Amino acid sequence: MSSVKQLSNIEVSTKILRHAVPKMSELDIPVTPENYSVWYEYFLGVNLDLKRVVDHKIENGEIFTEEVNSDLVKQFVLEISPDVIESVHVETQLVINNLLEKVSKISSGTANLTETLTDFNQELQKTNDADMLYKLVDTLVNEMGSVIHDNKQMEADLNHMNEEVCSLKSEMENLSVVAQTDQLTSLFNRRAFEDQIQVHMENYEQNQTASSLLVVDIDHFKLFNDTHGHLVGDKVLAYVALALKKSVKGTDFVARYGGEEFVVLLPDTHLDDALIVAEALRKKIADKKLTTGKEKKHSLGPLTVSVGVATLNNSDDRESYFIRADEALYRAKSSGRNRVCGE
Ligand code: GH3
Ligand code: MG
Ligand code: MG
Repeated sequence: MSSVKQLSNIEVSTKILRHAVPKMSELDIPVTPENYSVWYEYFLGVNLDLKRVVDHKIENGEIFTEEVNSDLVKQFVLEISPDVIESVHVETQLVINNLLEKVSKISSGTANLTETLTDFNQELQKTNDADMLYKLVDTLVNEMGSVIHDNKQMEADLNHMNEEVCSLKSEMENLSVVAQTDQLTSLFNRRAFEDQIQVHMENYEQNQTASSLLVVDIDHFKLFNDTHGHLVGDKVLAYVALALKKSVKGTDFVARYGGEEFVVLLPDTHLDDALIVAEALRKKIADKKLTTGKEKKHSLGPLTVSVGVATLNNSDDRESYFIRADEALYRAKSSGRNRVCGE
């Protein structure tokens, strides 16, 4: 592995990051891993077809809607490009390896100096020849000079690389926060939920820590949208998200599973307690009188949710755990809605 080659790869991808993220924000494109991979390819400049299509859209002032973005992903990246976040991780690792290599060079530089000093000491004891002494001192000064020079160079390299690591790290954190957040409600999204359910499974396996899952679905939300419009519907989704978040403990995990469906993971909680939490959530949302308009005179009518509850057991995998909560939700719906059903 050549370190020169590694460094140039890292520099390329850092450069791409610096160009792609601002460009995406200028064009109002969410920095999701999928969208980022399109713009990574675009700034890499190798995929000429992609470049042509994107440039054409920019020249025509075309808006990069969700549909346009996902078409680009499908058309140009999905089959050929690896997960972007994955590759950013790899590149950070390369920067770190490079740093370590430099550090080990510094220590071997110091080792050379020690060796020279030891030789010098031995020669010094053998000789009383002035010429020889001058030569030895000369060698020593040169050796020290080159170590000092190398160290200065390496210090500059280290500082530079340290900055690169820091900025890559924060860009990476940004990407992964964006990739785990639902834009409409600012809750965690389904991807983050899949990760969290895995954490619960591992805690259960290793420490027998209990876990319960609530699946919360807004009742007749299609009708609500049809009556009040999609924009009011969006606001209500954000309201329900906040209400859920505010009614649970900080250690509980709330995410938007999709559409008008939410999930809540309760760590260290058995079924009985989870049913109590679910009932409190349901009641809180049902009791709230939703209104619109400045003077809050226009009532939006009732808004309720149904909740299915399951608790993790020995034979569960991620799917079976979710399915049992979802089946309980289905029973809550079919038995009249605005209610909580346990598994
Ligand atoms: P049910 O009580 O059986 O759950 O009925 P429902 O109407 O809530 O369920 P259905 O699955 O038939 O419809 C879900 C609706 O949720 C359809 C869709 O318009 C709405 N919806 C999904 N995502 C969004 C969103 O992001 N914004 C808005 N405003 N509405 C959404
Ligand atoms: Mg619904
Ligand atoms: Mg639904």
